[in-house]
Amino acid sequence: MIVENYQTELYPTLKKYFGYDTFRPQQEEIIESVLNHKDVLVIMPTGGGKSICFQLPALLFEGTTLVISPLIALMKDQVDGLKANGIAAAYFNSSQSSEEQQEIIKQVYEKKLKLLYVAPESLSALSDILKPTYFSCLAIDEAHCISSWGHDFRPSYQQLGFLKKSFPDTPIIALTATADKATRKDIVDQLNIPHAKQFISSFDRENIELEVRPATNRVTQILSFVQKRAGESGIIYCLSRKGTESIAEKLKNKGIEATAYHAGLSFDQRSKVQEDFIFDRTKVVCATVAFGMGIDKSNVRFVIHYNMPKNLEGYYQEIGRAGRDGLPSNALLFHTYADVIQLRRFTEGASNEEFQNAKLERMTQFSEATDCRRKILLGYFGELLEENCGNCDVCKNPPEFFEGTVIAQKLLSCIARLKGTAAAGTVIDVLRGAQNQVILEKGYQNLKTYGIGNAISWRDWQHYLTQLINQGYCEIAFHLHNSLQLTPFSKKVLFENQKVFLTKPKTLKEQKAQQKKV
Ligand code: ADP
Ligand code: ZN
Repeated sequence: MIVENYQTELYPTLKKYFGYDTFRPQQEEIIESVLNHKDVLVIMPTGGGKSICFQLPALLFEGTTLVISPLIALMKDQVDGLKANGIAAAYFNSSQSSEEQQEIIKQVYEKKLKLLYVAPESLSALSDILKPTYFSCLAIDEAHCISSWGHDFRPSYQQLGFLKKSFPDTPIIALTATADKATRKDIVDQLNIPHAKQFISSFDRENIELEVRPATNRVTQILSFVQKRAGESGIIYCLSRKGTESIAEKLKNKGIEATAYHAGLSFDQRSKVQEDFIFDRTKVVCATVAFGMGIDKSNVRFVIHYNMPKNLEGYYQEIGRAGRDGLPSNALLFHTYADVIQLRRFTEGASNEEFQNAKLERMTQFSEATDCRRKILLGYFGELLEENCGNCDVCKNPPEFFEGTVIAQKLLSCIARLKGTAAAGTVIDVLRGAQNQVILEKGYQNLKTYGIGNAISWRDWQHYLTQLINQGYCEIAFHLHNSLQLTPFSKKVLFENQKVFLTKPKTLKEQKAQQKKV
C-alpha cells in the first residue's frame, strides 16, 4: 500500500490540516521515510514537532494509523485537537464504556478513522482488529518507556515487540524526546526494528545559559539570583517536599511571590499552583520533579536545581522548561556530594541499580566538568558540538590548570594511610591536622600524613578532591560508608611519577564577582 504521488500531497496537506507552510528540520525526511514503509526512530526535543511526523502520513495512508501512547490523560486532548482540525481521530482505553469501544472498533473496520490512540494496556482488547488490513502505520509515542535504560520505564511497553511480528510490512515510527545511545539501541531491539533509520534532531537550546555552582550557602545564592530577576518566572527543583516548602517560605519572607508544589498537595491545590504560574500570578514555583509535565509556558526565565537531578535526561528535560520563547534564560544547578550520596541511597537495591548509578555518574561528571558544559550535555544525547558554546559558566570563565601532582600525592597517601576506612571529611581533617574527637579517638594524629596539608584550606581540599575523583585517581565507596578508596590509577601518581593537572579553586571573591554578573 505505497502512497503514490505523495510528494505533491505533502505541502497541501500540511497547510490544509495543520496550517503550516513549511516543515521543521527533518520532519519532511521522516514523513517520506514513513510513507515509503521504512521503520524510523525519531528523537526530537519536546515541542520539536514530533506529532506531525505520524499525523501527516496518517492522512495520506489508506486505513488507520495506530498510535500507542502511555498518557491516557492526554489522549482526549490530542484527539480533540485533531478533530478540531478536521481529522478523523479517536482514542481507545479503559475509561470508555463497551458501547463506545465497539463503536470505535466498527469505525476501524469501516476504515473511517485516520488515527486511533491506544494505551499499551488496552491493546489486547483490540486483538480482533489488530491486522495489517486495518492499520497502515504504527506510531509508538514516548518510546523510551520500553527501555529500562530510559528514565521512565513502563512494563506495559515491553510487550510491544509483537507488533513487528504481526505487522511485518507495516511501517513503525517510534518517537521520544529523550534517549541516550543505550536507550536508543534498546528501543529498536525491543521493537524488532533494528534497521530503523534514526533521526536525531538538535537538542541544543542555545538561549539557555548553563551554570553549575558549588552548593555552599545555596539558599542565600538563590535569594540573590531570584531578587536580581524580580518579576520573572522561574522554577526551583528540589528533591524533597520539605525542601520545596522551606525554600518557598524563605523566598516569600523576602517579598518574592513563591509557592511550593509536590505530590503531597491535593489535586485542587496542585491545579491552582499550575494555573497561578501559567497566568503569572505566582512567579516562582519551588517544586519536586512532578511539576512541569504538560505545562506549556513560554516565558519561564530560569530553572534552578537546588538538588542535583538523578540523570542528564531529567536535567535536560527540566531545564528545557525555560526559554521556550527563545529569549535568554538561565539554568542554574547546585552541586554537592551530599546529593550524590543521597541519590545513591535511592537506587540501592533497585533491580537496575547499576544502570541508574552509571547515569548518576554521568550527571556528576557534567556537574564537575572543566570543559564546555553544553558540549558534554549534547554529547550525551549523541550530538557533537564542534565549538565551545560560549554560553555556559565554563566557557565564560575557563578554569586555569596547574600541575598539582604534589597535592594529589598528599591526598592519595593520606587515603592509603587510612586504609580506605575514612570518608572525605575525615581525610581532609587528617590532612589539615584537625584536632577533633574522631581524630583523637582513632589516634589519627599519629599518622604520617597528619597535618601535611595544613597550608590548604578545607574548601580548596574539597575542590581538589572532587577533581581527583573525577579524573579517576580515587573514588567514593558508596557501599562502605562513603569511604574514600584508591583506584588502580592511584599508584601511577604515588609511585610512577604520573603528573596530575588540577584547576585552581576560585577564591570566594572571584566566585562572588562571577555570580554578580549573572
Ligand atoms: P512534540 O510532540 O515534539 O513535543 P508537537 O508535535 O506537539 O511537539 O509540536 C509542538 C508545536 O510545534 C505544536 O504547536 C505544533 O503545532 C508546532 N509545529 C509542529 N510542526 C510545525 C511546523 N512544521 N511549522 C510550525 N509549527 C509546527
Ligand atoms: Zn560552553
